[in-house]
Parts: sequence; structure tokens; C-alpha cells
Amino acid sequence: MLSFYGVYKSYSSPYFALSNINFKVEKGEFLFITGPSGAGKTTIIKLITREELPSKGKILFEGKDISAIPRGKLYSYRRKLGIIFQDFRLIPYLTVFDNVALPLILRGSGKQEIYNRVTTALKELEIIHKARELPPSLSGGEQQRVAIARAIAGNPDLLLADEPTGNLDPLLSRKIMRILQRINMKGTTVIIATHDQSIIDEFGKKVIFLSYGKIKRIKT
Ligand code: ADP
Repeated sequence: MLSFYGVYKSYSSPYFALSNINFKVEKGEFLFITGPSGAGKTTIIKLITREELPSKGKILFEGKDISAIPRGKLYSYRRKLGIIFQDFRLIPYLTVFDNVALPLILRGSGKQEIYNRVTTALKELEIIHKARELPPSLSGGEQQRVAIARAIAGNPDLLLADEPTGNLDPLLSRKIMRILQRINMKGTTVIIATHDQSIIDEFGKKVIFLSYGKIKRIKT
């Protein structure tokens, strides 16, 4: 589904945030990318979402070079991705329901479809009872569940999460991880960037270990 071939990324030359990154993700996989702060985890996520372009090398998604996607067509590529940000990025003045609905509205989905998808996602994340609330009135764990609901409502092929447990206590972190695992078991490919070793020890199947922008090892 996704392959990195000899990928380098430099924000400010001559320093490389990533050097010679090679890995493959098959459909249905559950992959962790880990390493200390500054190792390049977020950069990998940003390259996949095409917020950033590689300085060298190729990234293929479903066999196509994502660097070659013209700006005007990026929306149709990103439609295949669900992205969970560490800082949630919920819109504070929109209700929980509208936050989850917004990406579907922007892609032009019909009213009934939006209602069905948003309701299903909010139920899945057990946060449907807060549908009419505004995000600032929710706890951190609840906001995180809304952010996950928004990421999965569009039924993405690939779910990306950057430090999804970064701001949560250990109990909530485990709960969120179990939710992501459940989504994966239903067939969605999941990539999680995290520095949290205890989460990896507990949930890690395939793990890419990064250090100073290089892959140290891949545990399968
Ligand atoms: P991680 O997510 O593992 O903490 P990052 O991918 O955020 O690592 O960062 C990798 C390296 O790239 C770091 O040295 C960081 O300072 C640098 N970096 C990240 N984003 C930028 C940017 N927008 N401009 C310049 N340097 C950046």
C-alpha cells in the first residue's frame, strides 16, 4: 500500500531530518514508528500526508508516486487518509457532531450519508452523548475520541496518528490504543508515531525504530 524508497528530507541544508528511509506498509498492517524526540517521526507522517515533499527518494501510495500528485488533486489523495493530530485540532466553536461532519461536508457528501457516517463514528468511539457539545467542554480523552471519530468517519484506507496518546494518562492511553487496534482489525491500515515505549511494548507488532533521522532497525 505504502512504500518509502531511499527517502531523504532536509528542512535546512546540509542537515537531514531523514536519511535513506526505506520501508513498506502492507494493507491491513498496524505499524509503530518510534524514536526519541527529533528522530523524524512527525516528518515521516508529514511526508505521507504530503504536507512536506521529500528532498530525495520516492514515496509510493498504491503504486503511485505521491510527489507527482498535482496540488489540485491532493484532496482526492488525502480523502484516502484519516489523520489524528496530537493536539486534536478540533474547531472550538463547532459542535462535536459538526467537527466530525466537516471533512465530509467539504468533500460534498450528501446529508443522509453525513448523518449516518458521523453517527456511526461517534457511536464507535462511545462519544455520541456529547454530539451537541462544544469541544472545550470535553475532557482531553473525550476530545481525543472526537478527533479519532473525525479521522475514521470518511472510512479511510490508511489511518495516521501522530503521538495519539501524547497528552493522556496511561489508563486513557491504553483505551485509545485498544480503539485504534479495533479499527485496524476491521481492515484499516494504521500507522502510529509515538515515543511511548510502554505502549509499543504492550501493543507493538511491527515497529520502526528511528534515531537521528535514520532507521536503526525494523521489528516485524
Ligand atoms: P520527531 O517527530 O521524532 O520528534 P520531527 O520529525 O519533528 O521529529 O523532527 C526531525 C528533525 O527535523 C528535528 O531535528 C527537527 O528540529 C527538524 N524539523 C522538523 N520540522 C522542521 C521544520 N519545519 N523546519 C526545520 N526543521 C524541522
